[in-house]
Amino acid sequence: MKASPSERLPTTESVWALLEAVTDPEIPVVNLREMGILRNVEETATGFDITLTPTYSGCPAMDQMVDDVQSALHAAGLTAQVKIQLAPAWTTDWMSPTALLKLREYGIAPPHPRPVTSNNSTTSNAPPGGSPGLQKVTFSWRRNLTASDPIACPQCGSLDTTEISHFGSTACKALYRCLGCLEPFDYFKPY
Ligand SMILES: [Zn+2]
Repeated sequence: MKASPSERLPTTESVWALLEAVTDPEIPVVNLREMGILRNVEETATGFDITLTPTYSGCPAMDQMVDDVQSALHAAGLTAQVKIQLAPAWTTDWMSPTALLKLREYGIAPPHPRPVTSNNSTTSNAPPGGSPGLQKVTFSWRRNLTASDPIACPQCGSLDTTEISHFGSTACKALYRCLGCLEPFDYFKPY
């Protein structure tokens, strides 16, 4: 069956753009692409294949993300199949600089870079069939930040902060308190 030639056919680019509106259920200011959760969009004979990688396996928000992606495409008259890709595992290093800034504005301290290991290859973790542009993000605004630097308070910027609990509102966040403004805040742990 052929689509009507009078209608402009959707492209993978238009689907990427459409999915800009789909946000992380746990962090509604950040969309799935900025989070590095939306990995790939591929055109198929019947519609589009969307690949998502959850922030951690067993992520309770995953079902909602799949529903949200399918709803967004169905609303645009497109058929989508959502595939969950667990390997390579998602890492906070896939979060875009925009996501990190939005996290901080939202009141969550963004993750520091992961500790540098001796196996410091920049390509070994790249997914074989993923979108090559996504995981090559460099965080220029925190280039000098290392894993052992203190966590800055997202409210006042103070570096005088202390961890209260290694597990905050969700397993991927730790609960901190700022000793400057005395406000508690979540720190998105690097992993
Ligand atoms: Zn503070």
